[in-house]
Amino acid sequence: MNTLLSDTPIRRESLRIAGEKVGRDEVIEVAYPYTGEVVATVPKATLEDVRRAYRIARDYQPTLTRFDRYKILMRAGEIIASRLDEISRVITLESGLCRKDSLYEVGRASDVLLFAANQALVDDGQVFSCDLTHHGKSRKVYTLREPLLGTITAITPFNHPLNQVIHKVAPSVATNNRMVLKPSEKTPLSAYVLADILYEADLPPQMLSVITGDPREIADTMLTHEDVDLVTFTGGVAIGKYIAGKAAYKRQVLELGGNDPIIVMEDADLEEAATLAASGSYKNSGQRCTAIKRMLVHTSVADEFVERLVAKTEALKYGDPMDPATDMGTVIDEAAAIQFEQVVNEAIAAGAQLRYGNIRRGALYSPTVLDHVDPQMSVVKHETFGPVSPVVRFDTIEDAIRIANGTAYGLSSSVCTNRLDYITRFIRELKVGSVNIREVPGYRLELTPFGGIKDSGLGYKEGVLEAMKSFTNTKTYSLPW
Ligand code: NAD
Repeated sequence: MNTLLSDTPIRRESLRIAGEKVGRDEVIEVAYPYTGEVVATVPKATLEDVRRAYRIARDYQPTLTRFDRYKILMRAGEIIASRLDEISRVITLESGLCRKDSLYEVGRASDVLLFAANQALVDDGQVFSCDLTHHGKSRKVYTLREPLLGTITAITPFNHPLNQVIHKVAPSVATNNRMVLKPSEKTPLSAYVLADILYEADLPPQMLSVITGDPREIADTMLTHEDVDLVTFTGGVAIGKYIAGKAAYKRQVLELGGNDPIIVMEDADLEEAATLAASGSYKNSGQRCTAIKRMLVHTSVADEFVERLVAKTEALKYGDPMDPATDMGTVIDEAAAIQFEQVVNEAIAAGAQLRYGNIRRGALYSPTVLDHVDPQMSVVKHETFGPVSPVVRFDTIEDAIRIANGTAYGLSSSVCTNRLDYITRFIRELKVGSVNIREVPGYRLELTPFGGIKDSGLGYKEGVLEAMKSFTNTKTYSLPW
């Protein structure tokens, strides 16, 4: 195997408690999934570290003007742009995502900063005249948004080590809040890089602490601490539901798992549909909440669609994540890859046809196409968070909608058709947070509302604009007018 890393010194990270670097003897090792080499260690925070982070946050009242916040976020964006290559390499090292994916991710992070900076300048207060009914008055009611009284707890998953974090941190800065962030212990490095960039861009350090540790030791304190007003969590359903029960009387924004379909109707442009299917399924090694995890294809076009999909899958270059030509790197670790292999083997044993892939070497799992999959098989009933393309055939639009709605999830979806009657039905009848016509389910702007329903979330959205709303309290005041 290519051990590009032998000359790379191991990073010894520290916690960032309000900007102060704090080391601990107990550490978590971070391994490069492609070779298994340890590339960094991060401290295991103690409970006292966690409590101190919240104490500092409680004792600090942000005073940044809108312009100050704009400048900090724009400056952070400039620093990130100037260190694009280095930050992309950090993401690849901690996650095994290929450089194409990690470079794309850094670009997205810059977009988040740009949108948050601009949104910080916008006062979205509303004005209501009060003489609207016969018992009205000559007054006006005004709204204004204030930062939360307490601190925000943010907890993020491994799959986009920088972008998941920045979608919480940037709106927090833009709204003058204080945040204590715990990134995934699997990919904790980008969060520390981001914190340092924000401090360098003049963010008052009391507004952001980053801690790492064993969630079994520190997570409950982060969820129940008296100074926490809001918990914003992105991750799997099981932990999301645990948080929903544990963080009692805290505002909760939960962005959980997905099992998004691409639906290909009989009139679809099959070349376009297969292109969307392959990129939606394999980008980021299939580890996106909005990755295409089920392909529902009209029986009359399924054979041709599968041929095209297999050809595109074969053409994909997977392997060494550091090779700039690689299209897909590893998944997060060997345990995840073994699990995909098992669930695919189970489907094959139950009658699905393997058309390509299902090859594993360590954490490297090939893109994999399965045809003739039954909607009840585990590979499609539950979220498979990896590069697997299971094709399910259907005969009518009613079947397509029923199968699409037939899992516990409701995040996003993709529909390939040009028929307006189909389009309107899918938009109305799919029980999901987003419907993208002739686009992958993951398509969005970093600004636009994003999030799911059912087991995918409680319907409170992320995206810069919605996150800024959820991170604020609306106050009304009224004046005689
Ligand atoms: P995960 O749920 O295993 O972990 C997420 C975070 O929760 C990590 O930081 C982890 O340390 C922390 N955690 C672990 N135990 C905890 C506890 N008891 N209390 C509080 N926090 C705890 O998820 P993952 O494997 O890192 O990420 C993959 C999942 O995330 C997938 O299901 C994916 O669909 C989902 N996801 C959802 C979105 C979305 O926006 N809806 C986006 C990306 C990923």
